[in-house]
Amino acid sequence: MECKFCVGAPAWLIKRYKFWTVYLQKNQSYLGRLVVVLNRHQSDFFSTTDEERIEFYHVSYKMREVLKAAFGPQSFDYAFPSTKEAHAHMLILPRYAQRTSFNGVAFEDPQYGKHYDPYREVTLSNDVYTKLIEKIKAVAEPSLEKARILK
Ligand SMILES: [Zn+2]
Repeated sequence: MECKFCVGAPAWLIKRYKFWTVYLQKNQSYLGRLVVVLNRHQSDFFSTTDEERIEFYHVSYKMREVLKAAFGPQSFDYAFPSTKEAHAHMLILPRYAQRTSFNGVAFEDPQYGKHYDPYREVTLSNDVYTKLIEKIKAVAEPSLEKARILK
């Protein structure tokens, strides 16, 4: 069976690291929500190696800081869903006390201060997904963005 994380999803890719890969999620119920995915087959986070967990910490911390700088959420939820994927993965869910907007699209967080809603679905136009990914990458890798502007 084809595994979506092994095949990869270049359109959604934020950054691939040695042990983990960060993707934007199609469901943007919380503006900027990302998923951090282990690159190999091991669905149990607690069965990852020390090296993998160290990188996981640094990658997740960096992405939290990037999301803070890009969209200004007030807090975050983190979730390890036990779904059928063969790869351990953690959702990073930025939480917003106020309505926020990106590229003309308004985002609400009606349950701010409570557990995130795993069933709320917000999908965007392809153009907005592209701009979201560009924005996150530009904040994550300012040197790349600068190089592009200078070109
Ligand atoms: Zn796989």
